[in-house]
Amino acid sequence: MFYYDRTYILVLIGVVLCMLASNRVNRVFQKYDRVRSHTGMTGREAAERILRANGIYDVQVQHVSGKLTDHYDPRNKVLRLSDATYASSSVAAIGVAAHECGHAVQHAVGYAPLQIRGALVPVANFGSTLAWPLILIGLFMNNQTAGLLINAGILLFSGAVLFQIVTLPVEFNASGRAVRTLESSGMLYEDEVKQTKEVLGAAALTYVASTASMILQLLRLILITGGRRRND
Ligand SMILES: [Zn+2]
Repeated sequence: MFYYDRTYILVLIGVVLCMLASNRVNRVFQKYDRVRSHTGMTGREAAERILRANGIYDVQVQHVSGKLTDHYDPRNKVLRLSDATYASSSVAAIGVAAHECGHAVQHAVGYAPLQIRGALVPVANFGSTLAWPLILIGLFMNNQTAGLLINAGILLFSGAVLFQIVTLPVEFNASGRAVRTLESSGMLYEDEVKQTKEVLGAAALTYVASTASMILQLLRLILITGGRRRND
């Protein structure tokens, strides 16, 4: 089967990168989840303080079950913190809470990459679901439509890759905002800020890894369909 051609190594490289990044973030989070911040405030309290410090009063902070399920929901203006974050007063928990506040601030100030990312969500969902079926049908066909289907599939997959790329500035910027507020408000000591940076840096690497993995998959698609795209 052409699934297991030599270009499959590109997919495997992506999988390994994502595993390494995810192992690292888990390790760093666990390490600083054992370090209690000097103020003793919880993730929820930190989030509420950061939101207020940024002039945001209409975002609710709620608890959500699960592991690493923390997120900001712009549609309902709710910041949801997971089991490990909501009631924990660890440096890691405050870092994650501050990061999610970073997204709420981005939303409040109309940060452009966040808006672009929001607009690309349907493109990304549609693209990653439809790309492979189109390409597979194209590869099995032997008429002029084949090249057209393959090109459409690659274009759709590129949309999903673009979504991943736009996610990078959004995530890096949210962490940057988080660290600046933690520093300037004096909510954390200098060494605690450094530890928070380590947690958020490790989390950012997981986004870099998944973007790299998507680009490698796109490259593979282009390589395995190379001959077929030109003969129509
Ligand atoms: Zn984020």
